[in-house]
Amino acid sequence: MPDRRLYHEDPAAMRVETRIVEAGELDGRPWVRLEATPFYPEGGGQPADRGTIEGVAVVDVRSRGAEVLHFLERPLPAGVAAVAVLDADRRFDHSQQHTAQHALTALLLERHGRRTTAFHLGETYAAIEIAGNVPSEQTLRGWEIELNAEVRRDPPVRTRWVEPEAMAELPVRSRGLPDGHTGPVRLVEIEGLDLNTCGGTHVVHLGQLQLVHLLDATPARGGVRVRFLAGNRVFRRLHEMLALEAGLKARLGTGPEEFSQVLEKWQTERQRLARRVRELEAERAETLGAELAAEPGPHLGRFLPGAGPELLRAVAGAVLERRPEAVVALVGEDGDPPQGCLLVQAGPHGPEDVSEIGVRLRDRLGAKGGGRGRNFQGRGGRWPTGEPLFEPEP
Ligand SMILES: [Zn+2]
Repeated sequence: MPDRRLYHEDPAAMRVETRIVEAGELDGRPWVRLEATPFYPEGGGQPADRGTIEGVAVVDVRSRGAEVLHFLERPLPAGVAAVAVLDADRRFDHSQQHTAQHALTALLLERHGRRTTAFHLGETYAAIEIAGNVPSEQTLRGWEIELNAEVRRDPPVRTRWVEPEAMAELPVRSRGLPDGHTGPVRLVEIEGLDLNTCGGTHVVHLGQLQLVHLLDATPARGGVRVRFLAGNRVFRRLHEMLALEAGLKARLGTGPEEFSQVLEKWQTERQRLARRVRELEAERAETLGAELAAEPGPHLGRFLPGAGPELLRAVAGAVLERRPEAVVALVGEDGDPPQGCLLVQAGPHGPEDVSEIGVRLRDRLGAKGGGRGRNFQGRGGRWPTGEPLFEPEP
């Protein structure tokens, strides 16, 4: 005998006294079947209900043919009385999102010729996929207005069972039934808007959606994905955005109407500072280059804390302009956390290969890198404080 699905007979049943008729295990997860279950199993795009059976958490609910398996946090024995309690908030939330989907799907098909091809109900938003091109923002807001007008109209949402043969006489939107379906079919009707086959859970009046917000419409699998929020999710999102706004207000020291002005000012200032930094670095590179070029010997090396790869290149250029026969080796360190960088370069009249020096310094630094001919570069590691790059000339 199929398990009695109370969520169809009495969707408001949140606490049910029933019996465990069978207990088992699947892939190491214990499950039970109930004589009558208020738990909706995952299906039709709607996630499974949650709650407890005899105080044990129900972590998932799945259909297996005509049976409903309740997966539990820990095993329960079969053949005993059991109290099943639903997570009522989660159920109501799913019912709101799912019924909003019915209304949106029907409205888009009937009035705008847009067929729904998929439905997804996630933790934070729900979405449908529809045929056609991505609508403009104005069109999307138009759909939102129409949908909320239906919510205000507040038609009843009714379910009933009909024999499959009787369906032909009815203006049913979707006639698709699961493979191998036999017996009566469950119809869900939003009076004056939608008549559809569905096994999910719904609100009983469309007004219970309170409000539907269409988040956005983006291209998806040859059609369009429309994300939406219904009921409490709209308020949750609103509260998140208000908290975000309050945080920005406190940090920027101004109201939201001036946010973009403040950011523009910051950006301009940032560009000015970046320019100034480049000028100062060029000056510093010249000074350092001249200083280093004045040192004796063919190998000129220096550790430059705070210098990045760009400054190393500028310093090396300034040195070799003055000492074309020399080899210059520079180790810098920038970023947060600090990260080493290495540059070894020979002048046009210097040795043709610096890889031996490059490899030695790279490994001492603990960096990754390599090079060819007169140029060798590395990144990463830390240079040991106070250590010279080259042994002093004898
Ligand atoms: Zn439904």
